[in-house]
Amino acid sequence: MYLNILATGSSGNCFFIENKNDIVFIDIGISFRKLSTLIDLNRFLGKNIYLFITHEHTDHITGLSTFKDKLKPLIFTGEGTADALKNKKMDVNEFFILKKDKIYNINGFKVAPFHTPHDALEPLGYKFFFDNKNITFATDLGVCPNYLIDYFNDNDLLILESNYEDTLLYNGKYHKSLKRRISSLKGHLSNKEVFNIISKINTSNIKKIYLGHISEDNNDYNILDRYVSMSKKYFFVDISYVKQRESVLNIEL
Ligand SMILES: [Zn+2]
Ligand SMILES: [Zn+2]
Repeated sequence: MYLNILATGSSGNCFFIENKNDIVFIDIGISFRKLSTLIDLNRFLGKNIYLFITHEHTDHITGLSTFKDKLKPLIFTGEGTADALKNKKMDVNEFFILKKDKIYNINGFKVAPFHTPHDALEPLGYKFFFDNKNITFATDLGVCPNYLIDYFNDNDLLILESNYEDTLLYNGKYHKSLKRRISSLKGHLSNKEVFNIISKINTSNIKKIYLGHISEDNNDYNILDRYVSMSKKYFFVDISYVKQRESVLNIEL
């Protein structure tokens, strides 16, 4: 099976997992047109298409309406997110509502939604269990409470955000209210916070970590390189990051 990171960052977030029978999307924060330029949609033919939405922020749902009309996926999200999308005049009648801290049997795979501290109505992260492969998505969270570490342990792939570097955010051009929002407990994770999280994870049970949702304004790839090499050195983990506006396709699990 494969993971495809089509986009990650404030200009759009979209991932999909592909196995023999299923295409499982996590967020559709890119336009349908962009999606069809990144991948050949014919590869979806004859497969079950699912979409799991983390939260209602535009960078996670931009392409939702067209995606829904064209590909007719089964859509899953939290009740708060469905309400927020309904307020944006989207038809959410056929959405399947998930609750955090439960494990759902979908159709050949399982999913465990968990709460992510973020300034949306009911933000969720997802841990997927496919046969013997686990993949967890946790982008858009201001802080990492201890219960999340349990979800982060034991994964073939773990996708985490590493949004900003403290000093670049504080000294940067953003208005102070936006700086406060980003660094708040319901904002985004800094590089340092992610490094601390990795120090708490049992990395012997992690095959690979991808860092995403990296800010173009408040982060720096040279700084990230240092965190990545420290993580490799101290925690023996295979880790890399995905730049904003870049895609990483066909990551084999
Ligand atoms: Zn968000
Ligand atoms: Zn986001």
